[in-house]
Amino acid sequence: MARLTSFPTFHRVSGRVILVVGSGPAAAAKVRLLAETDARIVVVSEHPSRELRNDALRVGAELREEPFAPGHLEGAALAFAATEDEDADRAIADAARAARVPVNVVDRPELCDFTTPAIVNRAPLAVAIGTEGAAPVLARHVRARVEAMLAPEIGGLARLAEGLRGAVASLLPAGEARRRFWARLFDGPVAERALAGDLPGARALALRELAAEPDLGGFVWIVGAGPGSVDLLTLRAQRVLQEADVIVHDALVPSEVVAMGRRDAERVFVGKRKGRHEATQGEIDELLVREAKAGRRVVRLKSGDPLVFGRAGEEMEALRAAGVPFEIVPGVTAAFAAAASAQVPLTLRGVASSLVFATGHDLDGRTLPDWAGHALNGATVAVYMGRSVAAAVAARLSEAGLAADTPVVAVENAARSDERVLAGRLDDLSAVADRPDLSGPVLILIGRALASADLSSAIPFAEAVAAPSAAA
Ligand code: SAH
Repeated sequence: MARLTSFPTFHRVSGRVILVVGSGPAAAAKVRLLAETDARIVVVSEHPSRELRNDALRVGAELREEPFAPGHLEGAALAFAATEDEDADRAIADAARAARVPVNVVDRPELCDFTTPAIVNRAPLAVAIGTEGAAPVLARHVRARVEAMLAPEIGGLARLAEGLRGAVASLLPAGEARRRFWARLFDGPVAERALAGDLPGARALALRELAAEPDLGGFVWIVGAGPGSVDLLTLRAQRVLQEADVIVHDALVPSEVVAMGRRDAERVFVGKRKGRHEATQGEIDELLVREAKAGRRVVRLKSGDPLVFGRAGEEMEALRAAGVPFEIVPGVTAAFAAAASAQVPLTLRGVASSLVFATGHDLDGRTLPDWAGHALNGATVAVYMGRSVAAAVAARLSEAGLAADTPVVAVENAARSDERVLAGRLDDLSAVADRPDLSGPVLILIGRALASADLSSAIPFAEAVAAPSAAA
């Protein structure tokens, strides 16, 4: 992790003197910025500009029309040198340092003890954004985005919480119960009401929630993590990841997604990893039930959508049998991510009017799985876990009568930075199984609808690839 050269803090200035020395626009800008606080602003300016005079008057700053003297620094919490004259600014900075008053020199980062961030003010909530002077315009861009994210009334919500702290401390035991109360407060109906401007109503509701029995029961969210890129996680998945005490995840969920969870949540890996025991489905079911019964909030994180080849059915059954409440958070399934990567339609007017989610693995049996019949009737087929059995899939489908030239797309690592789109026809699909270079998860799409796409830049299935060991 890159380290900061400045440590962001909030410096208490209420009622204290902040000194601004200067006469022009730089001084005026600082006066306006400082007026976001309730400090006593003192401006020392021999010849104040009209703008500065107006601003000082408007925000109630004290204007001293006299030359700067070190005595002005006495008792000041902070000082700003904004004369826009290098020698004068340097002299003020020296005097401030001698008087042990932290000083900021406008546009001279090397002379500053502190710098001023871009501020989003929702007092008492504040967001300060800085770039250590590297890119002030970027800081302003970020501020604009944060401004848009935070309702104007969110400060009122913070005040409401402040007013409840005593009651919460006396009614709820420290730890889990309190954390949960606050989590619900800031994310539930109380917050909704407060942000809609009804603070008294929000407060009444909060007091009612506080008086109710604290809910310490465990809970499980079975969450779809999407195909593997952080920005395809849903907002809901992101929210429950923040509430989790335990995150149970498997191999297909990349670490960046797992890292989105609450920092101090426990992470439990239950997938395949070299040389390690792989948890069985039964053990995973037991783990979820055990953790929830212990009162913990569990996120069971699965790749794609949890209800598509995710064994969520078994987990739900175990939770129901144990009386553990749970919720499903859907995710972007691999078929959708693969289709998006290859830019192929999954349904197409007049060509394909249905879509089948299939797995290559039930081809082991003798009978043709019924999804082959759908393919013959024009459905687009998305084959999960199909790479190693690609040859069998192709053989069965053409035996059943699907045309040899039916277009096929295979996407490896769909929606990830290392994704690859391969394309071909049903009669060369078997080559996919033989490619030694396919090591990530692969999703195969089959159907006439794919013919409408531009696959000219896709990699042909049978294109010669050097096996890593066979490299000359
Ligand atoms: N629940 C998951 C599927 C799990 S089964 C979902 O909804 O996506 C595992 C199979 O999903 C893999 O064998 C592969 O076929 C497919 N898969 C998962 N992630 C993928 C990705 N990023 N790119 C391509 N295929 C993926």
